[in-house]
Amino acid sequence: MRECLNCKKEYKPFPTAIQTQKFCSRICYNAANLFSSPYTSAISKGKVGAIAELIVAADLIKRGYEVFRSVSQDSSSDLLILKHNKAFTVEVKSSVRNRKGKIAVFKGKLKSDILASFIHRENVIIYNPNVDGYLFKKI
Ligand SMILES: [Zn+2]
Repeated sequence: MRECLNCKKEYKPFPTAIQTQKFCSRICYNAANLFSSPYTSAISKGKVGAIAELIVAADLIKRGYEVFRSVSQDSSSDLLILKHNKAFTVEVKSSVRNRKGKIAVFKGKLKSDILASFIHRENVIIYNPNVDGYLFKKI
């Protein structure tokens, strides 16, 4: 028997997940795990992506950039930003923090100059490279 990290009840782990299981059920996993989406199932993956893009776009406008959003879903970048006549492409990814507090950063091949990871649960954007520092070097 093992104690569920969420509800604290004793449970018997599944034989196939005996090493790794930390929750008694999927419900407890979702309730406790920061990987879970903060949205209901009515908000599709596409809508979650659009929310992230719009929040990042608004943040970049606040930072003084002109922001252009891609018209096609198949584009290599989500946003194009301009400041002092320098243009940069931005890829926006929805991100999460794991139970150890680490941010899961997109590890795939990036075609854009800047990766903007948006953590929906925390309303936090992490730019890599840091947008202002990055542009400062280029100007
Ligand atoms: Zn539980």
